[in-house]
Amino acid sequence: LLSRFRNSLTNRDKTLGGLLSASGFDDQSCLSRYRTAFYRRNTPHKPSRHLVQRLRAHEALQKRCGPGTSNYQKAVEQLRSGQSSNLDPDCNYLVWISYSGLGNRILTVASAFLYSLLTNRVLLVDRGKDMDDLFCEPFPETSWLLPLDFPLKNRLANFSVKSEESYGNMIKKKVRVNEANFVYLHLEHTYKDEDKLFFCEEDQRTIQNARWLMLRSDVYFVPSLFLNPLFEDELDRLFPKKDMVFHHLGRYLFHPTNAVWGLITRYYNSYMVKAEEIVGIQVRVFEVEHGPFQHVLDQIISCTQNEGLLPKTVSHEIVPPVITSKSKSVLFTSLNIEYFEYIRNMYWENPTSTGEIVSVYQPSYEGYQQSEKKNHNRKAWAEMYLLSLTDKLVTSGWSTFGYVAQGLGALKPWIMYKPMNRTVPNPPCQRDVSMEPCFHSPPYYDCKKKRGTDTGNLVPHVRHCDDISWGIKLV
Ligand code: GDP
Repeated sequence: LLSRFRNSLTNRDKTLGGLLSASGFDDQSCLSRYRTAFYRRNTPHKPSRHLVQRLRAHEALQKRCGPGTSNYQKAVEQLRSGQSSNLDPDCNYLVWISYSGLGNRILTVASAFLYSLLTNRVLLVDRGKDMDDLFCEPFPETSWLLPLDFPLKNRLANFSVKSEESYGNMIKKKVRVNEANFVYLHLEHTYKDEDKLFFCEEDQRTIQNARWLMLRSDVYFVPSLFLNPLFEDELDRLFPKKDMVFHHLGRYLFHPTNAVWGLITRYYNSYMVKAEEIVGIQVRVFEVEHGPFQHVLDQIISCTQNEGLLPKTVSHEIVPPVITSKSKSVLFTSLNIEYFEYIRNMYWENPTSTGEIVSVYQPSYEGYQQSEKKNHNRKAWAEMYLLSLTDKLVTSGWSTFGYVAQGLGALKPWIMYKPMNRTVPNPPCQRDVSMEPCFHSPPYYDCKKKRGTDTGNLVPHVRHCDDISWGIKLV
């Protein structure tokens, strides 16, 4: 059973090269934290020493200023009343507001965390319906969960582009940051030009004066932080390899809770562990109608077979040239069941040209997105994680669900381009330029020259995405 683990149990480093703190956690309450290393094959990517040092320093900050401390009490008092004494000048906060699908949420927490790290802010996570049900605490001996009695708790869900506390509206109305009790950062894809000034150097200097920041986003805004001169040197030291940002931060932050870890390991041990190669196929269809669609099925088959990820099938009369006993296991994820059923049957009803044995499995078929349901999101998280444990990954363009899987797994995926007019794109898929997620709605603005510019052309390590031409990503 444990063929995939055999060589690895003894010499795998449970802290992932120092990424995770070796102490301060109770192992049993979060089994996934130190067991991830046994399941991942792709672990040669070590975090830089500087990143490791900064993470330990950040953990100390979270502990010193976080919930339950007198520093936190005083800062909350200032937020509530505008006044407080003996405030620790180093305790500043960023509150992440729970919003959007699970893939988006994972990407925005990672973006918010990187911003916190760069600006020395305590990150507090609004638990929404189930953040605490899905993820363990990433910081030792404290909690990243926003306390339930947080004064603005009931307002968090109502912040919008129109809120007068938004940075964009403060600029319009010429309200000064240090006169406000907090600043709301509206970094959703619907944001306005003034909100986008968040990414400019001068504005960053101003925003850093706010003790409290509230952030609502649905996009992976990390690439634009790399274009801000204020953060340049530090980001260079943190990430000598720029395409590793989500891989490191994602593995640092997102540890499945025991319930989700059970879904992951039971599935892995049943359907994946014995295969010599595991191919992940993530199918996400952005059509109004439910499907299934013939063009999506055709795209999956032509992509996987043209790219040599799965063998072609041949007619029954042909005896396969060589009978290799090589086995491939396919992990399918989709809200629909039909694509998986068709492909599983195809490999049952017909021999493969290579003699390979192809077993096809799909953990769930939930029908439609049900982000308000706990068990639905547990499965979604387990599936993203399982996809990240594959050897080769095919994803659907535009989907943050796929981005999370590729980033955690350090996998450069084959992206199936989003079909237009219900026809299979040509080519149906291509190898991505990097494993990083795409920022879907970057600002197109040159902060120095104060005019529009293509931010995908400014530096070599920030380029346009293959799946969304106007998006940008780290390479
Ligand atoms: P995106 O919309 O593809 O960018 O990804 P999100 O994760 O943000 O939102 C899609 C949501 O739909 C997921 O969070 C799940 O709730 C659901 N979903 C989409 N595809 C799948 C899938 O393959 N498996 C499961 N279990 N849920 C899915």
